[in-house]
Amino acid sequence: MLMPDSYAPHISDISLDELHAQGFRGLIIDLDNTLVGYRQEKPTPEVSGWIDQALQRGLRVVIVSNNVRAWVEEVATHLKVSFVHKAAKPLPVGFGKALELLQTGRKHTIVIGDQFFTDVLGAKLRGLKVILTDPIVQREHVAMRFVRRIEHVILRKRKGKRVEKV
Ligand SMILES: [Mg+2]
Repeated sequence: MLMPDSYAPHISDISLDELHAQGFRGLIIDLDNTLVGYRQEKPTPEVSGWIDQALQRGLRVVIVSNNVRAWVEEVATHLKVSFVHKAAKPLPVGFGKALELLQTGRKHTIVIGDQFFTDVLGAKLRGLKVILTDPIVQREHVAMRFVRRIEHVILRKRKGKRVEKV
């Protein structure tokens, strides 16, 4: 339930050619620390360029975030994609709304996000494939440290090799 299907250090490391070849036509992407780093308002040109290429290729993109409307809408507008805010991930409702917006079908849609307990678990609860990324900016609230440690153990299994201790 908590095992991502694939892993990439950063969203821009994900090959759009491969996603397309694998039959994916819709992308559900987390905002906070996947598209945009903590306290950054806009995606970097690198991320914007990756989204542009995805759209040019005919992939459909929706941002699904647990964050409040204003910021999610601002980034989505900037990237010219649709969005679901206050998605309450990992509950399946937000991803359900995203699938309705995309109209690409569950099997042709993949989730991209940086968190196990929202993005990976939420995707799995909705029967979606998911690619885990590293968070753009590591911010370690005390409570998050515990979550990260568990994520780390799972990630180590997924990568099949030792990664540095957090
Ligand atoms: Mg995130």
